[in-house]
Amino acid sequence: MVDFIIDETQRQLADTARRFALEVMRPAEVELDRLADPDSVFDDPRFREVLARAYQLGFHKMALPEAYGGLGLDPMTLALIWEELAAGGPGFTAGLLPLAVVARVIAFIAPDNRDLVERYVIPFCEDESGTRIGAWGSSEPEVGSDGSNYYDPRVRHQTIAVKKGDRYVINGAKSSFVSNGRIASVYLVFACLDPSLGIRGSGAFIVPADSPGVATGRSLDKIGLRVLNQAAVYFEDVEVPENHLIFPPGDDYPFFHNAIVTVGNIGVGYLAVGLLRSAYEEALRYAKQRVQWGRPIARHQLITAKLFDAYTAIETARALLWKASWLSAQNFPGDLALSLTAKVYATRQAVRHTAEMVQVLGSYGISREYLLEKMMRDAKPLEMMDGANEVLALKAAAELIGDE
Ligand SMILES: Cc1cc2nc3c(=O)[nH]c(=O)nc-3n(C[C@H](O)[C@H](O)[C@H](O)COP(=O)(O)OP(=O)(O)OC[C@H]3O[C@@H](n4cnc5c(N)ncnc54)[C@H](O)[C@@H]3O)c2cc1C
Repeated sequence: MVDFIIDETQRQLADTARRFALEVMRPAEVELDRLADPDSVFDDPRFREVLARAYQLGFHKMALPEAYGGLGLDPMTLALIWEELAAGGPGFTAGLLPLAVVARVIAFIAPDNRDLVERYVIPFCEDESGTRIGAWGSSEPEVGSDGSNYYDPRVRHQTIAVKKGDRYVINGAKSSFVSNGRIASVYLVFACLDPSLGIRGSGAFIVPADSPGVATGRSLDKIGLRVLNQAAVYFEDVEVPENHLIFPPGDDYPFFHNAIVTVGNIGVGYLAVGLLRSAYEEALRYAKQRVQWGRPIARHQLITAKLFDAYTAIETARALLWKASWLSAQNFPGDLALSLTAKVYATRQAVRHTAEMVQVLGSYGISREYLLEKMMRDAKPLEMMDGANEVLALKAAAELIGDE
């Protein structure tokens, strides 16, 4: 049966997330967003404090199995929580989304590998200090959307891995956009093992950040989501044990990469919905109070229409995402085409309607006195996160059309 019923446990979890996002994340995020030097955001005790509190509440391990100490939450419950977190602290939430990537990939692909589970999954679930942080690096200076080009053998990751005895040696650089790049304790790194196979020649490696030869760039100075750390990661003769090759190169590469893309993009979609919902709520509140031409501006039809359009966008984007989450719950990782469709739709709506919500406030909308200008800035990176929307749309369309 398909329904929209939220049970008591889900309601309580969503309430906890809402309170945490509004009372803890939002005030810190608003202050940190204003720091001019992006590196100083992540050295700031307020950043570390919020992260630690998020870990203490278990937001880092929500999707990990209970057998390892995770919360084992299903995709529909996660949907409710991600939206609430994003509504209060989109930057912090954008960082929380990928930080379980290493632990989740191990739990999904190599649950019987005790060495990896004991090194990277159980300690991650036990962490209450917010110091065990995961990141994944596929994109590179020369590999952006090409990360999904599985068909042209000339396209490959320039980061390379070479087998040396019972270890792999990794050399190369990941792009400045790696989420959590500068603050991660462990990476999932895509590196080429067989150049003749193009992008399919890449394997996925687990690389601890404290390995000799790992270095990071400066934190990206960007338009919005300034509390999401993004930075380049460099590898110079970095050695990892052979069991740290978690996924080998070959024809299954697209399946593996697409599984991460399917799950990741649903999360980005909830970032967009939570963010847009907050923008709509702020604008609605303002429009009911602000009087011009003798009546609250919410009663002027052009403003009413903007609010109505934003409301429609939130409800339709959420409905698409819920279906994507539901499909993920039925058959993990879910349906690639629908996940991408939902992400592209939700993020486009967020960009368009956060700008319209700024307009509802008139000139007050562009002032830092209100939250709207930050919400508009935070929305834009979502159109590139986990893949540029144009390319995700092409990828979803290719799934629908199918192979010849
Ligand atoms: C917030 C955020 C978080 C991110 N996190 C990570 C991360 O954790 N790990 C990681 O590895 N990367 C991450 N990225 C990088 C992201 O995956 C890339 O930015 C994205 O894949 C696009 O690559 P690019 O920026 O190099 O753009 P390009 O691929 O150079 O594209 C530039 C423009 O051309 C368009 N374009 C490209 N190819 C085509 C085509 N065939 N047809 C039509 N249009 C096309 C694109 O849509 C885009 O508009 C993140 C990015 C952002 C913004």
